[in-house]
Amino acid sequence: MAKILITGGAGFIGSNLCEHFLNEGHSVVVLDNFATGHRHNLAPFMENALFELVEGDIRNMADCHRATAGADYVLHQAALGSVPRSIKDPITTNEVNVSGFLNMLVAARDAGVKRFVYAASSSTYGDSVALPKVEDQIGKPLSPYAITKFVNELYAEIFSKTYGLETIGLRYFNVFGRRQDPNGAYAAVIPLFVKQLMNHQSPLINGTGDFSRDFTYIDNVVQMNERAMLTQKPEAINTVYNTAVGDRTTLNELLGYLKEFLSDFDPAIADVAVEYGPNRQGDIPHSLASIEKAKQLLDYQPTHPIKQGLKEAVGWYWSHLK
Ligand code: NAD
Repeated sequence: MAKILITGGAGFIGSNLCEHFLNEGHSVVVLDNFATGHRHNLAPFMENALFELVEGDIRNMADCHRATAGADYVLHQAALGSVPRSIKDPITTNEVNVSGFLNMLVAARDAGVKRFVYAASSSTYGDSVALPKVEDQIGKPLSPYAITKFVNELYAEIFSKTYGLETIGLRYFNVFGRRQDPNGAYAAVIPLFVKQLMNHQSPLINGTGDFSRDFTYIDNVVQMNERAMLTQKPEAINTVYNTAVGDRTTLNELLGYLKEFLSDFDPAIADVAVEYGPNRQGDIPHSLASIEKAKQLLDYQPTHPIKQGLKEAVGWYWSHLK
């Protein structure tokens, strides 16, 4: 059994990774400063002898070294997400997402870990209008956040070439599912809409609702992390992968599904009206991933198409928010 360091483990994706790998019998260390993550996400693991929390900041090199010592693998999730947050505060986003990332690469190299798998982002496709998105065709970044995630890929590649550190970047496409935070100014669209609909408040769509995304259920993302961590194919390492389903859904369709599934619990939700506002700065109109590379090199098979994922997520929110 391996010892896995999950940075950002108190967050949405990180806590799902913790749950999965603890269930598989691995040891899990979390490094988190609770900037956007929550202690309640870690509460189920705190008594588990295989679990350890290192409360610290990836901007602090000593914290990174402390957490990484003895780890076999790093699954690096800690970052400040959200395009609007990065537009409001590009300096802090850069400190965490770029300097913190570099600290973690150095710590992973110094600890001699077997592999460093990290959360990259579909925002790296930037202004490219090509669809579907293929890993080696990217555009120019459209936000400070997108720059930080692209720089992560550049640093990871250089660490592979210069120090022989094995790295794999997973370009996540709009991930959703249990434990994604519905609260705060930078909440992601699915938990925000679910919370608003549950409270009979009108969700606000930025634009006409025709923009589309490759919404990706958390279980598919966990599978990609596991496959990236364990693959033994040399040609599958030191590269990046789209982490998605390979299907796209418009915002209007998304709201239709959410209303349909939530109205199984509360029929009045079917009648909640939707509001429309201006487009948001830095938003691209459409996003759709090619997942061929992950299928071929990592044997990735997404288990949850969007509707199945939404149904599970809605059930989770209903039992946890109500
Ligand atoms: P999240 O905000 O729920 O989790 C991020 C975690 O990192 C939090 O627990 C937070 O406290 C921690 N963190 C932040 N700054 C830190 C610091 N300085 N030191 C230590 N810990 C710190 O976000 P998430 O949705 O789970 O995202 C996880 C990763 O996936 C991030 O790197 C994000 O950029 C990337 N990503 C997410 C999506 C998505 O759709 N959710 C899409 C693309 C990329």
